[in-house]
Amino acid sequence: MIHKNLRERSLKAVWHPCSQMKQHETLPLVPIARGEGVWLHDFDGRRYLDAISSWWVNLFGHANPRINNAIRDQLEKLEHVMLAGFTHEPVVNLSERLNELAPGKLGHCFYSSDGASAIETALKMSFHYWCNNDQPEKNNFVSLQNSYHGETLGALSVTNVALFKDIYAPLLRHSAQVPTPDWRYAEEGESPSNYALRAVAILEKYLAENHTKIAALIVEPLVQGAAGMGMYHPDYLKHASKICNEYHVHLIADEIAVGFGRTGTMFACEQANITPDFLCLAKGLSGGYLPLSVVLTTDAIYQVFYHDEATRGFLHSHTHAGNALACRAALATLDIFEQDKIIDANRTKTNYLNGAAQLLASHPKVRNFRNCGMIWAFEVETVDPAFSGKFFQAALNQELLLRPLGNTVYFMPPYIINNQEMDFLVAGILQVLDSC
Ligand SMILES: *Cc1c(COP(=O)(O)O)cnc(C)c1O
Repeated sequence: MIHKNLRERSLKAVWHPCSQMKQHETLPLVPIARGEGVWLHDFDGRRYLDAISSWWVNLFGHANPRINNAIRDQLEKLEHVMLAGFTHEPVVNLSERLNELAPGKLGHCFYSSDGASAIETALKMSFHYWCNNDQPEKNNFVSLQNSYHGETLGALSVTNVALFKDIYAPLLRHSAQVPTPDWRYAEEGESPSNYALRAVAILEKYLAENHTKIAALIVEPLVQGAAGMGMYHPDYLKHASKICNEYHVHLIADEIAVGFGRTGTMFACEQANITPDFLCLAKGLSGGYLPLSVVLTTDAIYQVFYHDEATRGFLHSHTHAGNALACRAALATLDIFEQDKIIDANRTKTNYLNGAAQLLASHPKVRNFRNCGMIWAFEVETVDPAFSGKFFQAALNQELLLRPLGNTVYFMPPYIINNQEMDFLVAGILQVLDSC
C-alpha cells in the first residue's frame, strides 16, 4: 500500500517546517490519514488527541461538518478571485462581521494569507501612515522581550526568540525590546498586576525618550505563545494603550494566536478594555482550515491613505488575499461561535478542566501551573536537554499530540473537546510526567 512508505517518501521529498531534519533519524514522522473532532488518525489504527489544535489553529475539530459544508457550498460558486479591483460576497460578509465583533471601531479589513504576512502588513501600514503624515522619522518598532510575531524578515525583526532569530540577525532591521510583563519574571511575592505595572513603567520611560522615532509598539495581548505561553495581567495592556496614545505611537495587537476565544473572551484586548490601532488575526480565523489572515484598522488610519495620489495608498498585496473558500470557512466558524454560544460554553469547559487538572497542578515535577481561557501551561523540573522530544514521543504513546516548548508543556485543545476527552488528556499527561 502507498501509505506504507509515506514516512520515507516524506523525508526524501518534503522539507518539514521548524525542524532539524536529521533528528528524524531517531524521531519518526507521524503520517496522518484523517481527522475527526479532536482526534487525528494514522494509517495503522492509532489515534492522537490534538491537544495543541495543530499549532494553535483548530477551533472546532477536524472535519467539522458545518465548516466542511460551507466550503463545499462555496466551491460550487467561486473558489477565488483577485481582490484588487474585484470583490465577492464572502469577503464583504466576513469584513462586516469582524468589524462588529472587534473591540472599538476597527472598520477596515486588509487581508493576506498567513500570520506573518498580517504582521508585515501592520508594520508597513504603521510606517506608511507616519510618512503620509510627514513624520517619516517615526520608523522604528518596539516589542516585548520574548515576543513572537512570525518568521518573515519584517516579522522576525520584531520577534525576540533567539532560537529563530540569531542566525538571521544580519538580515534584520533593529527593533527595541522592553521588559515582558510575563509574571514568571516577577520577584518572589510580587503579584502579576504589580509586576505588570513595574514593566509598563519601563515602557513609559522608553517611549517618553524615543517616541519621535517610533512608529508602533507591537504586543501579543495577554499570552506570549512561543515564549512558552507566558501569561500577563491585562493592566499592562490598559496602561500601554494609554501611554501609546499619549506619545503618538501606534499599538499593534497581534492576536494571531490569542484571538477567537483562546483567552476566554472573543479577543484578548477586551479584557483590558482597549482598542488597538491595528488588530492582526489569523490561525483560528478560518477555524484552522485554510490560510487566511487580516489586519483590522481604524478609520483615522484609513483616511490618511485615502488620496488622489496613488503612492499615498497602501500598494501592498498578497496574491491569495481574501480567498473566497477561506472566507467561507471563517464565516462558518463565526456562525458556530454565535449559534453554540461558544464563549460561555468554553467557560464551563475551562472550569471542568481546571478541576480535572488538580493533580497536575500539584504534581512534584510541575512549576508555574497556569491557565488563561482555553490555554494551559506549566514548566517541568528537568535538566534533560532532550526533554521536549522525549515528552512528545511519550505523549504519542498515550495517544496525545503535545509538543513542549523547551521544558514548558502546554495544551490548548479544540473547543469541541468533551469532559471525557479532557479527563483522558489529563490522565495521559500524568502518565507521561511519571515516565519522563
Ligand atoms: C503563529 C503566530 C504568528 C505567525 O503566523 P504564521 O501563520 O505562522 O505566519 C505571528 N504571531 C503570533 C503571536 C503567532 O502565534
